[in-house]
Amino acid sequence: MTTRTHDSNQPGAARAAAGRGPRGGHCFIAASAALGLLWPAACAFAAPASDATRAANQAVLQALPFADRQDFADAQRGLLRKPDTLIIKKDNGEVVWDLESYRKFIAIENPAPSTVNPSLWRNAQLNVQYGLYEVIDGIYQVRGYDLSNITFIRGNTGWIVFDVGSAAETAKAAYELVSAQFGKRPIAAVMYSHSHVDHYSGVKGLVSEDEVKAGKVRIIAPEGFMEHAVSEGVTAGNAMSRRATFMYGVFLPRNAEGSVGAGLGLTNPLGTITLIAPTDTITKTGQTLSVDGVEMVFQMTPGTEAPAEMNIYLPQFKAMWMAENTTSTMHNILTLRGALVRDAQNWAKYINQTIDLYGDKIDVKFQSHHWPKWGRDNVADYLKKQRDLYKFIHDRSVNLMNKGYTGEEISEMIRLPASLEGQWSGRGYYGSLRHNSRAVYQRYMGWYDGNPSSLDNLPPVDAAKKYVEYMGGEAAVLQRAQADFDKGEYRWTAMALKHVVFTNPDSKAGKELLAKTYEQLGYQAESGPWRSVYLQGAFELRNGVPNIAAPSSASADTIRAMPPEMLFDYLGVRLNADKAEGKQLTLNIAFTDIGKAYTVTVENSVLNYSEKLSDKPDATATLTKAALDDVQLGVATIDQKVQAGQIKVEGNRDAFSQFIGLFDNFELWFNIVTP
Ligand SMILES: [Zn+2]
Repeated sequence: MTTRTHDSNQPGAARAAAGRGPRGGHCFIAASAALGLLWPAACAFAAPASDATRAANQAVLQALPFADRQDFADAQRGLLRKPDTLIIKKDNGEVVWDLESYRKFIAIENPAPSTVNPSLWRNAQLNVQYGLYEVIDGIYQVRGYDLSNITFIRGNTGWIVFDVGSAAETAKAAYELVSAQFGKRPIAAVMYSHSHVDHYSGVKGLVSEDEVKAGKVRIIAPEGFMEHAVSEGVTAGNAMSRRATFMYGVFLPRNAEGSVGAGLGLTNPLGTITLIAPTDTITKTGQTLSVDGVEMVFQMTPGTEAPAEMNIYLPQFKAMWMAENTTSTMHNILTLRGALVRDAQNWAKYINQTIDLYGDKIDVKFQSHHWPKWGRDNVADYLKKQRDLYKFIHDRSVNLMNKGYTGEEISEMIRLPASLEGQWSGRGYYGSLRHNSRAVYQRYMGWYDGNPSSLDNLPPVDAAKKYVEYMGGEAAVLQRAQADFDKGEYRWTAMALKHVVFTNPDSKAGKELLAKTYEQLGYQAESGPWRSVYLQGAFELRNGVPNIAAPSSASADTIRAMPPEMLFDYLGVRLNADKAEGKQLTLNIAFTDIGKAYTVTVENSVLNYSEKLSDKPDATATLTKAALDDVQLGVATIDQKVQAGQIKVEGNRDAFSQFIGLFDNFELWFNIVTP
């Protein structure tokens, strides 16, 4: 089963959170049919903020321009309508989106609790604003209904929707809100700005595949959209999904000691992921399109925030849609869940091109997360600073790299110039300067820091044993770590105590002190993902690894959209090298529904495939792509499909059975904070 995640994306696990209860003996959330965020009282793990944390958070209050309230005015401007409370459910009652779980403790009038970095708290106060907002006459945004915004642009006959959210249910709720305000108008077109799941997955909440096929609704997307939408995150999907449970904190309680949001928005909805392929592909900057009477001028921005992405200028509104290329945060050059590292230099170049092409004719700028910015001068200043944010991160990191500093050192040394540091829209709520600068180093130099000592490190457990031995044993380390903890030296105690836990995973005292350490680091973090990572780590040290129902997170639409080559690539990753040792298998696989055939071989513990067919296969399987999709989706096993006659095998059936037995299934809930 494939799993997949995207930058602003749900952890795969969350998708199928309903089901099993807590693991026996462990204190994890009861995974109820309603979302699962029911924490037994005994699971409360809320240590108060330490003196050091209070002081650190107090310093943030002094350092940043909290008197500048423009973002609050912008985030609330143009509110047309909102329900009193907002909980979006599936037809079966499962909760998809629970804004109230945040609103119950985050409000504009509430000062930051001591357990939350005041800058992140400010971001959360902005992110809990919700409802239908007018950006400008004819452009409306539903915000606070999803991790991302759902934008409705008035066409001659209906709505053109710019990005459709993460789930069919949230998109549908957004459309209902718009219809309540303006009366029901049809959806004339949908535009996907980029290939991340929170921008296309809601599509079937608005339109059906049949309407698109019948030509009633156009779907517009940048070149490469489908390929990247279905590929990104599949190959490494299981590992990324597991780390996403840390990054987004979906399973953390929502309170002042738990999740306060993800920086880019609150969190991921747990709804239905859908996908309809685009009907119109945009390939060139300057390309124009008239959609239901709305003129669009496209700017391609591949290889920025997403591999396939585009901005759009709307001349009749003098409005600039920035996709996810500029938001009200420093974005990620590399996400903590894992991803291919992005190109900060390229990102800056495209923002510069936006300024060159459209800068003197933008009255309002809006995008897929956070709130718009109005006024030509404001927008110009903002775009310049967003450009320079990414450019600075790139250039300064490479500058220091060329002076011989390593990633770790660069992240410690780098500091934004004062003119950028005080900009709220450049603060690290999602990305952070510390991890983005390391990402730049990684892009150029890779994992090796150049010191021979780092070339062949002992693995964590072996190293931990020696460290703890050299440091005088577990008790001695704990004593010193406690003293440093008391001094507020959390970054160091985290490093030291990891060795205790990896030497002795049963060390209750070691795990508890490390959990307390992570907690304080989380309380101090400005980045939503950093906070979530630390607090999830603390949780798992105390309660063990969650065991919520295994995910089947690649949606049916996504699996069915994957070409056979992509499925074979993924099978290659799933091949168990030990089981495949010494095996030599050649299978011909013919797909009757898509008219393609492949030879798949296993040799040297490697799976290869080719459209050049073998004339001496061990076996030939004839099937439909749809039948294979059913197997991938867990609807049926291969044996069942063979028995049902939907997969026909000729030749050596034993070779086919052997082949089927060679693949691993990945477990989502692998250990991270313990060995
Ligand atoms: Zn997004």
